[in-house]
Amino acid sequence: MANKISRIEAREQDPKTRARNFEEVSFGFTPQEAASEASRCLQCKNRPCVASCPVSVRIPEFIAQVRAEDFAGAAATIALDSLFPSICGRVCPQESQCEGSCVLGIKGQPVNIGKLERFVGDWALAAEVSGPAAIPLAPDPAATPPTTGAAEAAPTTTLPARNGHRVAVVGSGPAGLTCAADLARLGYEVSVFEALHRPGGVLVYGIPEFRLPKERIVAREIAKIVALGVHIETDVVIGRTLTVDQLLDDEGFSAVFVGSGAGLPFFMGIPGENLNGVVSANEFLTRANLMGAFEPCSDTPIFVGTRTVVVGGGNVAMDAVRTAKRLGSQASIVYRRSAEELPARAEEIHHAREEGIDFQLLTNPVEVLGDESGWVRAVRCVRMELGAPDASGRRSPVPVPDSEFEIPCECVIMALGTSPNPLIASTTSGLDTNRRGCLVASPEGATSRSGVFAGGDAVTGAATVILAMGAGRRAAQAIHEYVSSHSFSS
Ligand SMILES: Cc1cc2nc3c(=O)[nH]c(=O)nc-3n(C[C@H](O)[C@H](O)[C@H](O)COP(=O)(O)OP(=O)(O)OC[C@H]3O[C@@H](n4cnc5c(N)ncnc54)[C@H](O)[C@@H]3O)c2cc1C
Ligand code: SF4
Repeated sequence: MANKISRIEAREQDPKTRARNFEEVSFGFTPQEAASEASRCLQCKNRPCVASCPVSVRIPEFIAQVRAEDFAGAAATIALDSLFPSICGRVCPQESQCEGSCVLGIKGQPVNIGKLERFVGDWALAAEVSGPAAIPLAPDPAATPPTTGAAEAAPTTTLPARNGHRVAVVGSGPAGLTCAADLARLGYEVSVFEALHRPGGVLVYGIPEFRLPKERIVAREIAKIVALGVHIETDVVIGRTLTVDQLLDDEGFSAVFVGSGAGLPFFMGIPGENLNGVVSANEFLTRANLMGAFEPCSDTPIFVGTRTVVVGGGNVAMDAVRTAKRLGSQASIVYRRSAEELPARAEEIHHAREEGIDFQLLTNPVEVLGDESGWVRAVRCVRMELGAPDASGRRSPVPVPDSEFEIPCECVIMALGTSPNPLIASTTSGLDTNRRGCLVASPEGATSRSGVFAGGDAVTGAATVILAMGAGRRAAQAIHEYVSSHSFSS
């Protein structure tokens, strides 16, 4: 019986070694490991794993192709629904999506779908079959899923003729890049405007190298999109260099997609947050990832003390605390709820624990304490306990009386969440936002302003890579319908 084989886990760097370097933690599967893990899949007729994938990757089909060692066919199958298998295989929360629904998980261990997807993506990048030739044109959601064999799954290799219409995309994160790629495949001339000097959004400035290699993976995935004819212009801040109104009225774009993310960090509003040594996780990670501050030759400074406290319990907090550890600091997580409520991916929490991160759970900072020079010397915290459930259904943390104590440290990193930057909404006429500062958009991405579409974190607030990709894909289709039904001179 196929499912009698134990789940195969990918080999990883030794925790003590990797806690001192920025190289990738997981080595991924070998072809033999991939084929063997693929043989565990039961090829369920009702496909619960597909139903739990936000972009409905044809999981049993690509796994069957991996099992048959038809890796090119598997890459082509995934490409029907997802542009970035090497990225999603590394960062998607599989335990709450595809693997969380895998029937093998009911009585045992689910198929390692994430590592299989990563294997296929990396295989395609290495084999250089993932350029435009490997990306099917005009994805058709109603298309019959391919079965096995490269021939059946082989995508169209010719790019469509230009249709004479131009679309502008604001932001080069997963939402913007997916929208741009789909529009390019539909024949649009697409220009992506990115505020930073490198494209990729959080994939390059937020998620660290040890989880998602920048040159080996992200840059090569983005190259696939450039190969489709998408033009990416960096160092352009929409709302400052040019406005959305100018893109539509003066620059000749028929529509604009806003995928500007949620990069504005929250702070706690407690005394001492202005001391030297307190930073947002976004700033800390941007210095490390985008500016390469962890390299000794980098011009960008980065500060960690002998002890660093990271406040928060999500993926961003785990990335910041593990980066601080790699920079030589003793590093602690301070989180006000218990281990069960930690919102970070299970794999990241597991890796952080293995690397020696200290977890101060049911603990909340009430003040950052400074020395006479204005630098952080400690965080005063209070212990918490869980009370009655709040509106979200989670038990709310309440302070334990007389439980205050200090954690000595020189650096405090706030990883409490982010919201969209208000720049685009405040410089674009007729663009509605909600109470959280997110752009208001329909599920297809239409905003309150005709011709302006939006998706990803800019609409949902901080979410996930795969949800941003799904939003970019739906918006591309809506933009195509909008442009096709309006008379623009081309
Ligand atoms: C540290 C960290 C770790 C994460 N880990 C995970 C994870 O493990 N798994 C997961 O699924 N998700 C993770 N996420 C969340 C995920 O990365 C985001 O949900 C996703 O990147 C959102 O995509 P997006 O395209 O909407 O926005 P972004 O990726 O934020 O991209 C937006 C882009 O728009 C640009 N921009 C903003 N304003 C302007 C402007 N005015 N003009 C021009 N350009 C502009 C920005 O510079 C940025 O490049 C993490 C997030 C962070 C911060
Ligand atoms: S639910 Fe699990 S076993 Fe069933 S098809 Fe999906 S991956 Fe295979």
